[in-house]
Amino acid sequence: MNARHATRERLQVMRINRLVHIGVVAFLLLSLAIFSTGQKTRAKVTADSALAELKAGNSHHVKHRYQHPHETEDRLRQLASGQHPHAQILSCSDSRVPPEIIFDQGLGDLFIVRVAGNVAADTELGSLEYGAEHLHIPLLVVLGHQHCGAVTAAVEGGEAAGHISALVTLLRPAVEKSRGLPGDKVENAVKANVEMVVKQLRTSTPILAELVHTGKLRVVGAVYSLDTGKVTWLPDTL
Ligand SMILES: [Zn+2]
Repeated sequence: MNARHATRERLQVMRINRLVHIGVVAFLLLSLAIFSTGQKTRAKVTADSALAELKAGNSHHVKHRYQHPHETEDRLRQLASGQHPHAQILSCSDSRVPPEIIFDQGLGDLFIVRVAGNVAADTELGSLEYGAEHLHIPLLVVLGHQHCGAVTAAVEGGEAAGHISALVTLLRPAVEKSRGLPGDKVENAVKANVEMVVKQLRTSTPILAELVHTGKLRVVGAVYSLDTGKVTWLPDTL
């Protein structure tokens, strides 16, 4: 009887051990699955997905059907420990072109550099390099806009007061390049300026050019319409 009892107990212990083993293996597999999913979610942010997100956001703006993503208290707290924006925008300071609103984005979504005429001098380049290299943002958008005051000043020529002349100097090549084209002089210069800044950023050494070359960064250009709220992506920059 004793021997049979001992055998039964041994079998029970073995069974329990097996269950514990199965439990541990299941836990490890589950952890691995959760980890992989997390990795996949982070890896999913590409230049293409970021661009698609901006296009969708702009269509909400055009239709005035905002989703107001990422504006909760939870999001705010979550971001205190770090940021992972999916797009960088170099846009004009103009109050009518706020990137978070025209792309329907929230807290921590966009890394933005705003300067009149959306030009890129050393300080702007430094900010954009930080976003691309240290924050690993895969998409950089140069965004011009209709009726830009800075571009208008450059088109009209003459002497600009104070430090505004520094902006006009940076915009003058776009005015020269678009001179003689049919259509509105300011809108032609706005488009030419975006295209030239896109080219400047793509070839900016040593950081941005290298990231573009290795496929880690995509630089595109667009123009915003004050009439409709629509962002038109410039085909030559896509
Ligand atoms: Zn402007």
